[in-house]
Amino acid sequence: MNDSRVVVTGGAGFLGSYLCERLLERGAAVVCLDNFLTGSPRNVEHLIGRPAFRLVECDLTGFVHVPGQVDLVLHFASAASPADYLRHPIETLKVGSMGTLHALGLAAEKGARFVLASTSEVYGDPLEHPQKETYWGNVNPVGPRSVYDEAKRFAESLTTAYRNSRGADTGIVRIFNTYGPRMRPHDGRAIPTFIRQALLGEPITVTGDGSQTRSICYVDDTIDGVLALADSDFAGPVNIGNPAEMSMTELAETIRDLTGSSSPIRYVERPVDDPAVRRPDTSLAEERLGWRPRIDPVAGLRRTIDWFAKALTTYPRAS
Ligand code: NAD
Repeated sequence: MNDSRVVVTGGAGFLGSYLCERLLERGAAVVCLDNFLTGSPRNVEHLIGRPAFRLVECDLTGFVHVPGQVDLVLHFASAASPADYLRHPIETLKVGSMGTLHALGLAAEKGARFVLASTSEVYGDPLEHPQKETYWGNVNPVGPRSVYDEAKRFAESLTTAYRNSRGADTGIVRIFNTYGPRMRPHDGRAIPTFIRQALLGEPITVTGDGSQTRSICYVDDTIDGVLALADSDFAGPVNIGNPAEMSMTELAETIRDLTGSSSPIRYVERPVDDPAVRRPDTSLAEERLGWRPRIDPVAGLRRTIDWFAKALTTYPRAS
């Protein structure tokens, strides 16, 4: 990574900001492109001023030009939280389609490797469990979540077409639910919501009957997996996630215990097309990238809770 120059799209978001940080630590120069739709310069403010870091306000769905050498494009721009993509449905479809086209075009123009941040959501409400990369998914193309799921499925298809028809050097990573410090307390995802509610002593709102499962991966593990794919010449798609699966009620109870809160758990309406189960089969990542998650959910949740306890006093109410 030394002496390389990397473009991170969506670099001012949750995952993108960690990628920028880790790439700089490894000696790379980083150009962070973001339109701040769901991210914020505050996520990378500690990097601003470093000579090897450039933050550029840029909407990937419009004209994208990065002067000079580029060795790697990590395409992470896209709303990711259901609350965000339901609030920005057209923007989400545009960044997944036109944004991916422009990011691929940039990588092709520079002869750079391209890594697409795809998602476990391409599996939809899965009929196969756990999910292997060979599973094609079960997505409702006109359901509310389709703006995200189908945009990512299209982005995977486009990335594959660039590889097969134009010889582009591409990789696709299917990221499963990732959590950690720097998530927005009001971004609507389960972990920030439960932690915020527990810390404030408010009822913890679990959707449905709480039996639906997710497998949660600490951000450092996810970033290790993404960089392992970036460093390889593997095309993927490859799952990156922690197979430790738990129900939403178990997650809420764990967070309540770790915060020492006495918040009650309140069951609320379950969103349309919400997947019933989600667990990655990570054998391909182990075999091809030598990657496996290392941080157990309780340790990761503790670190996240510590960060939220401080952040809640400084974040604007609706962030
Ligand atoms: P995030 O919302 O924190 O970050 C996304 C970033 O993309 C934001 O900074 C946003 O402003 C930027 N962006 C959105 N549209 C843009 C556009 N048109 N032009 C330029 N920038 C734009 O989300 P995140 O959790 O960091 O997710 C990052 C990527 O990883 C996304 O592509 C998401 O689909 C993928 N992913 C994340 C998870 C997860 O658990 N966090 C899981 C699966 C996949």
